[in-house]
Amino acid sequence: MDSLSLILQAQTQNVLSQEQLLQLLQDPHIDKALFQAADRVRQKYVGNAVHLRALIEFTNICRNNCAYCGLQAQNTAVTRYRMTEDKIYALAHKAAKWGYKTVVLQGGEDGFFTVQRLVPLLRRIKALGLAITLSIGERPFEEYQAFKQAGADRYLLRIETTDKALYEKYNPAMSFENRLRCLEDLKRLNYEVGTGILVGLPGQTAQSLAQDLLFFKRFQPDMVGLGPFIPCPNTPLSDAPAPQLTPALKVMALTRLLLPDINIPATTAMEALQPNGRLQALQSGANVIMPNVTEGEERQNYALYPGKAAAAQAPQNLRQELEQKLHAIGRHIGTGYGGHKGRKGVPCC
Ligand code: SAH
Repeated sequence: MDSLSLILQAQTQNVLSQEQLLQLLQDPHIDKALFQAADRVRQKYVGNAVHLRALIEFTNICRNNCAYCGLQAQNTAVTRYRMTEDKIYALAHKAAKWGYKTVVLQGGEDGFFTVQRLVPLLRRIKALGLAITLSIGERPFEEYQAFKQAGADRYLLRIETTDKALYEKYNPAMSFENRLRCLEDLKRLNYEVGTGILVGLPGQTAQSLAQDLLFFKRFQPDMVGLGPFIPCPNTPLSDAPAPQLTPALKVMALTRLLLPDINIPATTAMEALQPNGRLQALQSGANVIMPNVTEGEERQNYALYPGKAAAAQAPQNLRQELEQKLHAIGRHIGTGYGGHKGRKGVPCC
């Protein structure tokens, strides 16, 4: 079948085979048609609201050495920080005051934040009436369970790539099986689960991206977040080729065709690569933005990749500026919790 017919078919049937995915990923002439199809599916299934999640980057200390990540343990050029529980709470409080309904607590894999430390903090934040998303990497089932019981609603853990050999090459001392185990555990515990990948890792093929998309379809996450891999100084992949936005947008648009009602963020890495990258993403299948409310030095030091801290505006002006930009493209800020529509978890509206 020709690529345009394939896109139209996928728009209504939400199915694509590996070969069909490969064809679309490799066809350079259909980008616009693909983005428009994903935009229509987005509008039909999740509407024009854009849900905001306030991102708090609470520690940049990490035990791992992911080759792509600026915060890897071996990177001695990073000034490390760890916020106190009171500081994290204060930021969550501000986010609630500014009208956010969800906070995302993200950090490196920092052993300081034990269950004993995090549970009371989650309870306090929960009392603000916020939905809580955690993004703190791999933990045992019991810890995920304790966080859930303390009020965590969602968990973000990207699979990064489903190519096991590539995964284990870039995540030394980590196992692909354990990553999958974590995702399965989170699902079993009834979290709203977000996963995703990096697009453009050296050695990643179109074949492997097609496999990633089929994994999303099989795993049925509540959210998929993906972005371009941006080479970061002082990491083993610092000299990788310059990143590109279009391939990441294509994988994102295909994700929307396959999983029509999930939440898909327009990611910061997209904005870091190209001004208005996030707006483009919102018109190519995305329906969520995660504004960074981390302030000051910590914001500068949470440097997963270059250009990140500057990509988002200052937290105070963020909402208003965003509101104006969204109105210009016929969208508005969602007023509810923005849960996955197809599931009875966090309320969607
Ligand atoms: N420690 C947590 C949070 C990781 S940071 C965890 O393991 O889940 C969130 C995401 O940033 C990662 O999952 C990765 O996909 C992305 N990221 C890391 N380095 C990046 C880079 N150089 N370019 C683009 N995205 C990157």
